[in-house]
Amino acid sequence: MNQEPIPFNRPHAAGRETEFLREAVSSGYLSGNGRFGRKCSSWLAEHVGARAAFMTPSCTAALEMAMILAEVKPGDEVVMPSFTFVSCANAVALRGGVPVFVDVDEGTLNLDPDAVAAAITERTKAVIVVHYAGVGAEVERLASICEERGVLLVEDAAHCIHASRNGRPLGSFGAMATFSFHETKNVQCGEGGALVVNDERVLARAEIIQEKGTNRSVFLRGQADKYTWVDVGSSFLMSDIAAAFLWAQMLDAELVTQRRRALWDRYQEAFGPLADAGIVRLPTVPPECRHNAHIYALRLADTDTRDAFIAELSEQGIHSVFHYVPLHLSPAGQTLGRTAGPLLVTETESARLVRLPLYAELGSDIERVIAAATTAVRGLDRQFAA
Ligand SMILES: *Cc1c(COP(=O)(O)O)cnc(C)c1O
Repeated sequence: MNQEPIPFNRPHAAGRETEFLREAVSSGYLSGNGRFGRKCSSWLAEHVGARAAFMTPSCTAALEMAMILAEVKPGDEVVMPSFTFVSCANAVALRGGVPVFVDVDEGTLNLDPDAVAAAITERTKAVIVVHYAGVGAEVERLASICEERGVLLVEDAAHCIHASRNGRPLGSFGAMATFSFHETKNVQCGEGGALVVNDERVLARAEIIQEKGTNRSVFLRGQADKYTWVDVGSSFLMSDIAAAFLWAQMLDAELVTQRRRALWDRYQEAFGPLADAGIVRLPTVPPECRHNAHIYALRLADTDTRDAFIAELSEQGIHSVFHYVPLHLSPAGQTLGRTAGPLLVTETESARLVRLPLYAELGSDIERVIAAATTAVRGLDRQFAA
């Protein structure tokens, strides 16, 4: 190999991270909800148009907060896609609840609202909808199904900074939404997340749960003369060290989204002829969705073709990856969860999906990825069967 390898992801550096870190250090305040933490949470709440945003150590932690706030108790059920990250299911299982896995739409790989409606029982406490790749799920329909059945809607908006549906930011539709600032996400601080609250009714309790189950926030505002243990909770706070880093990224988010969109569009244009030839399937973005180019994923003929494709790219020094292993087929998913309805789309599509390198600094290296991917797919010459 005579060319530089192309990684799957390279965390974006906005430039002002070290400046803000130095500021945080000299301020002498490094724990949660500090100066930078408050800047980040205001930015996010404004971005989503939410009541409040709580900065957390991860999206995983935010999902755990959401399931405490949804009052998931042992035996309660939470409906979610099987095609998602483990944290959705863990958050439910940690409360003693049962994740109920349903299928997704073939085009967007987002929750199928009919499958959700059919999966809701009298034990259902919540529905977790994931907006895969920052492409909005049919969240208006999901919201009305949830409202009708008295179930809370939670958006896993881990992929969703700068993404909207029908002009409304993703993360603004559910009672709550969770965001991730993991280094693999568009806007990042290594490890980080947030819980966004839209429903006034969970706001006061969210504050308590984030502060280890104490009313410390009320105390800090001078609304109580001491603080004490009042509820369950944990340390769901992002340190101001991470927040200082994240603030630099938030200020740069517009540029990151623009760059990623341009790269995504280039992939989509370049692979058009392969899709026309019936050997790949391109990502689908419904016209009502404005996405943020978080993921570029192709679908190939089958698993063998996908695996051979990944190996061929790897020979050219290009790192491509796949996800998600369907949760209903995982060892923990089989013992801790259950399925509702067939999961044919999940099983078929997850087995032949491949994600290509996509990061703000990819630049003209994208042409190398396109050339290698085109050669690989043409060489494998396997027809895509819908
Ligand atoms: C990344 C991701 C998470 C977990 O995010 P962390 O911040 O790493 O905990 C959860 N859900 C989805 C859909 C994700 O992509």
